[in-house]
This record gives sequence, structure tokens and C-alpha cells, in this order.
Amino acid sequence: MVVGAGFALIWHMIAAPPAPKGVPPEGVTPEGVPPEGAAAGAAAAVSADEVASAVAKAVRYIKSCQAADGTWPYEKPEHKLGAATLAVFALSQAGAGENDPAVTKGMEVLASEPLEMTYDAACAALAAESVNPGKYMKVITAARDLIVSGQDRQGMWTYAAGNANRRGGDNSNTQFAILGLNAAMAVGLSVPAETISAAFDHYDKTQNKDGGWGYAPNSASYGAMTAAGVGALHILGARVFAEKEACGEYASDPRIAAGLSWLAKNYSVKTHPGGNQAYYYYYLYALERAGVFTGEKYIGGHDWYAEGAHVLVDAQNADGSWSSGRDVLPNTCFALLFLAKGNAPVLVNKLDYGGGWNVDVYDAANVTRYISTRFGQRVGWQRVTLDDSLETLLSAPILYVTGHDFPRMDAAGTAKMRAFFEAGGFMFIDNCCSKKETDTGVRGFAAAVFPDSPLAALDRSHPIYRAFSNVTASEHVFEGVHAGCRDTLIYAAGDISCAWNRNDMERDKETFEFGANLAAYVTGKERLAPKLAQYKVLPSRRAATAPPGAFAFAQIVYATGSWNPHPAAGGKLLDYLHAKAGLTVASQGVTLPLTDRNLANYPFIYLTGCKRFQLTAEEKSALREYVNRGGFLFSDAACGRAEFDESFRALMAEVFGESPLAPIPADNPVYRIGFDTSRVTYTAAVRELNPNLTALTLYGITVNGRIAVVYSPYDIGCALEQLPAYGTRGLVSEDAFKVAANVVLFALSH
Ligand SMILES: [Zn+2]
Repeated sequence: MVVGAGFALIWHMIAAPPAPKGVPPEGVTPEGVPPEGAAAGAAAAVSADEVASAVAKAVRYIKSCQAADGTWPYEKPEHKLGAATLAVFALSQAGAGENDPAVTKGMEVLASEPLEMTYDAACAALAAESVNPGKYMKVITAARDLIVSGQDRQGMWTYAAGNANRRGGDNSNTQFAILGLNAAMAVGLSVPAETISAAFDHYDKTQNKDGGWGYAPNSASYGAMTAAGVGALHILGARVFAEKEACGEYASDPRIAAGLSWLAKNYSVKTHPGGNQAYYYYYLYALERAGVFTGEKYIGGHDWYAEGAHVLVDAQNADGSWSSGRDVLPNTCFALLFLAKGNAPVLVNKLDYGGGWNVDVYDAANVTRYISTRFGQRVGWQRVTLDDSLETLLSAPILYVTGHDFPRMDAAGTAKMRAFFEAGGFMFIDNCCSKKETDTGVRGFAAAVFPDSPLAALDRSHPIYRAFSNVTASEHVFEGVHAGCRDTLIYAAGDISCAWNRNDMERDKETFEFGANLAAYVTGKERLAPKLAQYKVLPSRRAATAPPGAFAFAQIVYATGSWNPHPAAGGKLLDYLHAKAGLTVASQGVTLPLTDRNLANYPFIYLTGCKRFQLTAEEKSALREYVNRGGFLFSDAACGRAEFDESFRALMAEVFGESPLAPIPADNPVYRIGFDTSRVTYTAAVRELNPNLTALTLYGITVNGRIAVVYSPYDIGCALEQLPAYGTRGLVSEDAFKVAANVVLFALSH
């Protein structure tokens, strides 16, 4: 084996075949490996904040190692180029921008040094693509050329690039070469089809019977090489199959399935399965790619990211590094890549409903990558199933359904989907290949789940055609089911997924732009929380039967307009009041009309809506009597809709004419009785018009010397649902909970 000069030593160490079982590999210090059981039984115990803090510490550590000339001194001074490429890539993936001095100086180094080694070229391409592909296109092009020319006759790569006639490549250099080529292809550079197919054939031919791969053909499987093989096949398959074969023929790759099955069987995030423990961190980075590329949240039933992040957070040294002795810098880079890359928010949950759910294997991966570049935030996708919890199904803003035989869903599945929508979920359904049977199935499904709201064509002025970019092509026609302030289901009867799958940006630009519009529509253009923090429903500790005196969230039903745009808001507020304010709360919200004879049993009522509405004379008189007898009304204009605002103000003037709706002064306790809301953050739609607005103004009506009505013209309810609707004018979730909780506490204490 040729171990060239430069950065190769660490790579050699990292990629060496495993030592025989029970024999510690020579020269390897085991201190860096976290103890067994570090995360046992505590899979979800690490928080997004802890990960963010570990990432920040690691970034500081890596920056502290940089020399004045922009290089990263490594154990041997001649290793500087490889160390710099990996360090810059890790810093960039952890959020350091191109103007960060450490990144700028690092990029200067790798743009000025000639690339000679496979690893260096691959990491240089990854770093340049991550930092600014336009600016560093020369680096990516040089890396691509070097890698393409360096493939051996077996379809593999070894350390020194440019040795095309040699044999004796290894799977560690090979996986990095493929990552480098992937970075080049991602920025539109071409790679010869024969390079790709030769690499694919190599992985195909050398997969062991147990489903894994070793360091070289015919060597024993171990964790890092198997995870790397899964990731490499995912990249290569997109070029070998997705572009030339008809939709559905590459629905699942048995090689990838067997590799994942090896990783499941030998699952660990505490040790390097079957491999040398010195390469534990290198293995975790490979595992992260295998999981993220294939969209698998679980490997062997384990939430590999949550568990791995927990181990890494616990194992981090005080200075922000990982491991000790040799290779601290690369180990720290690999650990940082796992933590930072793996925590990218999930934008799309792709529903595995069985059958042909995945006939377009790369659709979600391609469109989320495109959206990431357009939105300036890296987002990803994952596979979910009908057996997953409602929380998991709701964890991403978009539940994406495609394939040739949707809805293949029994009564339980349909009931689950109904619960999904009731909890505020959003679904995008694509009719892959525009099949008639699918169309019939989708329409039947929509009718079963939404008997009162039929699928209807969306007007060309709908945000789905323009939220981010204008989509004008006549073949793009969307239908939707309207609920509350938004369409909760959007259906593309014409095919979208096949274009996302083949990833031909020239031909299918508008289809990708539609993906960006869809993302803007469902996220309200807000940045997404990291994966670990997405849709963390507060633990529901509400008693099944409400104890006496428990707070009940009573919402008013009225006949006109839309009285319940955010059905999940009340329950979530009850959870919040219980968890954060220690309030004893009823098990669930109550809904009743103002004329209900039990109205007086509820000291607090909530009235909302997003349309024009009117109450009957009986309802108005019941409201007046309720308030005069000491009741309290809280109201908000759902999604900040002006139509509701106008109706509500007119109603208040009519019912409480002598006591007008007026701003509540800033020193009133309603702004701070439980939580400080003197400064709040508004949604993107408000910030675009009024970037400096941080003050909160609630409106009140004083009756018999007490504030008996509190109203917010800005949305609260949509934010309580934690699923923002496009164009919502209101508060962000965190502040909406505080404001609503304050109003409840204020009502109960006055
Ligand atoms: Zn299809």
C-alpha cells in the first residue's frame, strides 16, 4: 500500500483494515473512544441547545488550531493541505460563512496549493462547494479532473491521484473520491458516465455476502466501510439509474438495503462495529451520510442521530475537541460533521405507505437540496411510515406522498391521516406519472378525510404559484383542500416527482421553483428549527378527568365564517400552561356556542376566526350577559386576517358600545403576569413591512372596572399550533405561547 507524503498518514490510519478481535491495534490510544453505555437508555436525552453548544465549542477549537498562514498544523507539518480541506469543510457545514476569517484564510490556502492526493482533492471539492461554489469553481473543477483521472481499472481510487493504470485502490479513498465527484455534480460539472458506472460496478461486485464492505475487495465488513458503501451507492445510483430508466424501475436498491441491514444488525454509536476503534469518529461521519442520504431516521430501530449526538456531547473534551493523543483534529472535524450536518432541519417527511411509495428514489433528496440553496438554510428529508407516531408525522412541515398506488390505506391509516390533519398537519400529494388510478384514489382519500371541504383548483394568485418564484407553465395545476387560514392538502394531478427525481435543472427549473414555493408556503418563510428541536410536543401530563377547579379552554362555536381555523391550538396551550405555568388544566378543550346554558361555568372563553362573521341577536345578548356577570373573553384574528379584525371590532362596538375597545397600556400586568412579553418577535410577513416592530399591543374592553375582553389583531392561534401558515401576520410560536398564557393567568387572577 502506498502511503504518500502529505495528509495520507491519518487517512491510512483511519482507513486501515480492522485489527483482529481483542488485539488493540498498534499505536492506537483508546482514550478517545467514549465508554460503553455512555448513552444507554437515554436516546432522546440530548437537547438541540446542548448540540448547538457542542458545535460552537468544536468550531472554536478548530479555529484555535489554525496557524497565522491559514493552514492547520497537524502532527506532521507536510499534512497541512489535507487538514485544511477537512477543517474548512467542517467549519462551513457548522455554519461558518465564507466571510468568516478562518474560512477565508483556509480557502486561500486550498485555492493556491496544487491538489495531488485523492483525499485532498475530494475534501477540497466538498469545502469549496459548501463555502461558495461560484467563487471557488476552479478548485472544484481541478478536484473533479484529478479524481476522474485517478480511478483505477477496478473502479476504485487510492491515495495518489492520477494512477489510472494501477490497481489496489481502497474503499476509503474511493468513498471520498465519490463524495468529491458528488460535490462537483451538485454544482453542475459533468463527470463521465463510465467513471460513475465503473465505481457503481465496483461496489456491486465487492459487497460481501453479509451485506457489508471491507477496506478492500474480499476483506471483512466493518462499520465505516459499510456506511460509506451505502452512501456511495446512493450517490452513484442517481446517475446510473434515475436519469435513464423509467420511473419505478429503481424503486429500491437491494445493495443499499443489504448495507443498511448490516448497519442495523451491527448497530452502535458508541463503538465502531467490526472496526478499529481509532476510526470511531470517522465511522460516525460515514453513518451520518448513510442515514441522511437514504432518509432513514432509524437504523436498526434506533434514532441514530439523537443517540449519536448524545454520545458525542458527553464525550467532548473541555476544549471542544474529541479524542486524545493522535488525530485530535480530524476526529474533531468528523464529530463536528456528524453533529452539525445530521441536525439539519427536516423539511419533508416522505410517507412510506407500502407498495410503490418510492418509485422516484431521489425526488425528496433533490428538491430539498435545491430548496436549501435557494433559502440559505440546509434542509433535508426523511422516510416516515403510517406506523410512526403522530408527532413524527408532524415533525416536518410537509408530509409528502407520491407513487403509483396511493392511497393503499386501510381504515386505520385513513383515521391516522384524519388525526394528522386535525393536529394541524400539511400534506402534498403528487400523482407520479399522472396515472388515472392514482387520481381516483387521491380524490377518494380527500373526500373520505375532508367530507365537507372538497378538493378545488387553486387560483393562479395562490402563493403556491408565487410565494418564492413565479410558476407560470400551464402544465402545473394544483388543487387544494382549504381549512382555516390555509390549504392543508395540496394535490398535483400532473407529475412533479419524476422531474424532481431526474434533476435536470435546464428542463425542469419550474418544477423545482414550485418546490421552493411549497416550502415558503408551509413554513411561512421562517427558518426551521434544527432536527432535534422540531415539533417537540410538550409532554401531555394533563389528567384524563379534570380535577375540580382545573382550567378549561372553552372555545366559542359560531355559525358563519370559520370559527376553528387552528383546532390544535387549545390543547397545546393547555399543555404549555401545565408545563410552564404549573396550572392545573382540563384534559382537553371545550367547544360551545355562546347560547349554551353551561357557558357561565367557564370563566374564560376564546373566540377566533379568519373570515368575516356575524353573531345572532341571541349570541350577542348572551355575550353581553356573560361578561357583565364576570366572564372573560380572549380573542385573536387568526393568521392576522383583516376580515376577522373588522368583524370583531364591529361586534365589540355593538355589544359593548359604551366601553370601547382600546389599547391596553404597556404597564398593565397582562404583559408580564407570568412571562415577560414587553418585547416580542413577529412573523416574517410582519417583519417584511415593519422590521423594527418588537412592541406588543393588546386591546381591551373595561367593564365594571375590570378588563373583561382582551383582543390581539395579530395572530396567536396559528402560532400555538406551531405550524405557521404563509402570510400569517402574528407572533412567532414562542411568544404566542407566552402572550396567551399571560392572558389566561390574567383572566384567572382578575
Ligand atoms: Zn411515476
